Amino acid sequence: MFYCPVRIIFKEHAINLAKADWADYGNKALLVCGKNSARLCGALEEVINALTESGKKYFIYDEINENPDLQSVIKGKELFKQNACDFVIGIGGGSPIDAAKAISLAAANGLAENELYQTDKFKHAYPIVAVPTTSGTGSEATQYSVLTDTSQHKKAGFGHELAFPHLAVMDPRYTLSLPKKVTLQTALDALSHLLEGLYSNKRTPIVYPLIHKGIALIMKYLPIALNEPDNLHAREELMRASLYGGMVIAQGSTTLQHSIGYPLTSRLGVPHGLANAMVMEDIMNLYYPAVGGELEELFATLNCSRKEFLSWLHALPFAKKVPISAEFIKEAIPQIKASRNMALNPIEVTDKDITDMLERLGK
Ligand code: NAP
Ligand code: ZN
Repeated sequence: MFYCPVRIIFKEHAINLAKADWADYGNKALLVCGKNSARLCGALEEVINALTESGKKYFIYDEINENPDLQSVIKGKELFKQNACDFVIGIGGGSPIDAAKAISLAAANGLAENELYQTDKFKHAYPIVAVPTTSGTGSEATQYSVLTDTSQHKKAGFGHELAFPHLAVMDPRYTLSLPKKVTLQTALDALSHLLEGLYSNKRTPIVYPLIHKGIALIMKYLPIALNEPDNLHAREELMRASLYGGMVIAQGSTTLQHSIGYPLTSRLGVPHGLANAMVMEDIMNLYYPAVGGELEELFATLNCSRKEFLSWLHALPFAKKVPISAEFIKEAIPQIKASRNMALNPIEVTDKDITDMLERLGK
């Protein structure tokens, strides 16, 4: 089965085509973004202009931090209600887009902070528009929202059909302002999603062509975008790969590769894509006995061996180690095991597997 009920406009100046789509969403939008990047990359201004031309009003909520917390969602819900909004537009990386999804659901269903993960209470949603400015999460094409409960140091996602954006406005020009570090980290997140499409025990060959093409695009265009940040063609291809990654995880979700990354982010501050990348080789080795056939088919289409793929990965300029204490491992293991993605591993994963992996990361 393949299900991804999102209208996707993918082109330069895509915003000009959005007006027809959001015509019947209502009169006022809550614009959900981070503090700087939505303005910096030009997306916020272009969205505002397009709304104004459509005769719509807006209210800007520009306080979403990386790894959005539950309180920021509840504040967004209150602003949505106080300002009598009709739809939400998330502008930014995965953090503002995930926050926008959760705000829509919280507002439509009157959810309190402790109910944000209770998907059985999700009965309605206000229309959600996603305007990505990173090429990584694919959140514009998924039913997931990843939030952080700061009181528990716990990062976890929920998935619900109502969280699929109604409309994704994808303009690669918005990613030209991405710093090298974020370009790399977000592309590594997209790479994780694509690989996990082969790992998940809900994997479906329907998406294998997207996975093969998406990984080939990242291998070809990530080095170019890192060396030539203004190369719009490379930016466009990375955005396409990220979208493919979103479409892929919308079917099979993610696995231990993401579950193990959540405490690295919520407890140690490792950026999301980097956390996934740090364990990518270990996860591939762990899963190989179960999904070796799928991986070899991938490498055949990439025209490289597993060893060559891993050499390419190693050559990328990201930190491969992070200080890990025994206490961290003790606290992280229950959190990792409780993650809903753990049900999707292609093999049974033991505490020892996780401990070994975390210890290797720290050495
Ligand atoms: P992000 O957390 O949204 O943003 C990272 C940083 O990049 C922020 O400082 C942001 O600035 C900046 N930035 C964003 N766009 C920029 C641009 N065009 N130019 C310059 N700077 C820019 O990063 P992300 O990696 O896209 O999202 C990560 C989050 O998404 C994590 O919480 C992760 O768990 C989640 N995620 C969700 C899904 C899903 O399906 N829903 C899948 C994977 C990951 P500002 O703060 O100023 O905006
Ligand atoms: Zn991810």
